[in-house]
Amino acid sequence: MTQDELFKVLVAHCKEYGFIFPSSEIYDGLAAVYDYGQMGSELKQNIKQYWWNAMTRLNENIVGIDSCIFMHPKIWEASGHVGAFNDPLIDNKDSKKRYRADVLIEDYLGKIEEKINKEVAKGKKKFGESFDEEQFRATNPNVQRELKKYNEVHDRYVAAEKANDLAEYKQIIVDCGIVCPISGTCNWTDVRQFNLMFSTSMGSTAEGANTIYLRPETAQGIFVNYLNVQKTGRMKIPFGIAQIGKAFRNEIVARQFIFRMREFEQMEMQFFIKPGTELDWFKKWKETRMKWHVNLGMGAENYRFHDHEKLAHYANAATDVEFQFPFGFKELEGIHSRTDFDLGNHQKFSGKKIQYFDPETNESYTPYVIETSIGVDRMVLAVLSHSYKEEKLENGESRVVLAIPAPIAPVKAAVMPLVKNNEELVNLAQEIMNDLKFDFNCQYDEKDSIGKRYRRQDAIGTPYCITVDHDSLVDRCVTVRDRDTMTQERIPISELRALIDKKVNLNNLLRNL
Ligand code: ATP
Repeated sequence: MTQDELFKVLVAHCKEYGFIFPSSEIYDGLAAVYDYGQMGSELKQNIKQYWWNAMTRLNENIVGIDSCIFMHPKIWEASGHVGAFNDPLIDNKDSKKRYRADVLIEDYLGKIEEKINKEVAKGKKKFGESFDEEQFRATNPNVQRELKKYNEVHDRYVAAEKANDLAEYKQIIVDCGIVCPISGTCNWTDVRQFNLMFSTSMGSTAEGANTIYLRPETAQGIFVNYLNVQKTGRMKIPFGIAQIGKAFRNEIVARQFIFRMREFEQMEMQFFIKPGTELDWFKKWKETRMKWHVNLGMGAENYRFHDHEKLAHYANAATDVEFQFPFGFKELEGIHSRTDFDLGNHQKFSGKKIQYFDPETNESYTPYVIETSIGVDRMVLAVLSHSYKEEKLENGESRVVLAIPAPIAPVKAAVMPLVKNNEELVNLAQEIMNDLKFDFNCQYDEKDSIGKRYRRQDAIGTPYCITVDHDSLVDRCVTVRDRDTMTQERIPISELRALIDKKVNLNNLLRNL
């Protein structure tokens, strides 16, 4: 199966098993808006808990807030979003499809990079043990040719971005022969800027309604509450404020399922520090966040940093944590050193003094900020796309399993009586269910053969299936089947809780951080 096909299968699986539905589906859906079903919302909840606890429980100096989506419109002027939260868009005149010009160029560069990596892999295979990658990259003519092409386009792209030169964006696209994937032609319109904020109005027209925006990021809700939290929480720098909440962006191209949505959720943390210490803290947060990701056990090789060469005007360092999605390495989280840009501007626009008084030096200053910002939905997609597996079994059958890291799996255990028409088995199974449900999200399932029930639980990623059979009535033991190894073990009912807990307790994950 190609990665493209795998992605389609995954989207269908998410719908079939109650993870993610197109929004307003009975009205034919709404572009780039998705609803989470009964399984998806549990998974999302667990991911949020992992992040929230890692931030606010493991760090005494990080606290959480929950600010509103509606905010004073001046906030978005101060933050720069009204003036500059734009994407460069371009249309193909034949297919009438719209694209982000920067993404077209980045994808083109990504393809060259892929070619280079393939050459290197070939070399590695050919030369075996004696392979010297650095030398190979420096001397192989195919690599050199691709590298030259890459550097030329890359340099033009960075210069165009810096100068905000939209005509040059188009020229790069034309010169590189980048075609529309739908029409296959190079018949492009000019590149235009498009503001991504949604607006609405607040108040009745009689009073004179105000245009307000749906927040495009949660961060500003943190900045405008900096003074409130610092004072009421008696916070001393360095300290952080964390928040999870909805954000809205009128994305130009939103064709990658929940990777890019128009309504999505962010988990953001702004860490307030003394100016001059930002590069040390930036490094520290890069390490901390990567550890959080890798700790989930989805393979360190599936993550990488992508340091930004072109920095936003307010940033003095920025990196993306990229994850290997089915469509390649893409941004999962951003880590930015934002200087005093946001607090400084809010001070200017609001006329309120927003500073920190350092009791040790008797000085006041505007704190600098390190931001970590991750999309909950992208994280859900990372987990689902990595977990989805189609396996051939020894007996010739096949199964679909979601090997979701157990502590964030939607359902932790399924309790099943061997047959449904035996009252004693059903009663014992329900007794077990009623006992376990206080600690774990469990499902009771009595319909169909055990084999079919196992498959159903595999498909939603349930780590354990617990079967109550006739012997259980006598020996008070049950069969526990493991999702990943499919091995079965007979254990006393009294030991069930401890067994499940060991594998699924989120605190075990947190302890490793
Ligand atoms: P991209 O370059 O992919 O548009 P960005 O650099 O604009 O992303 P940020 O503004 O840094 O993204 O937002 C922080 C995080 O929020 C991203 O790393 C991503 O996980 C998430 N995010 C941003 N836009 C979307 C979206 N439209 N849908 C889902 N998640 C998003």
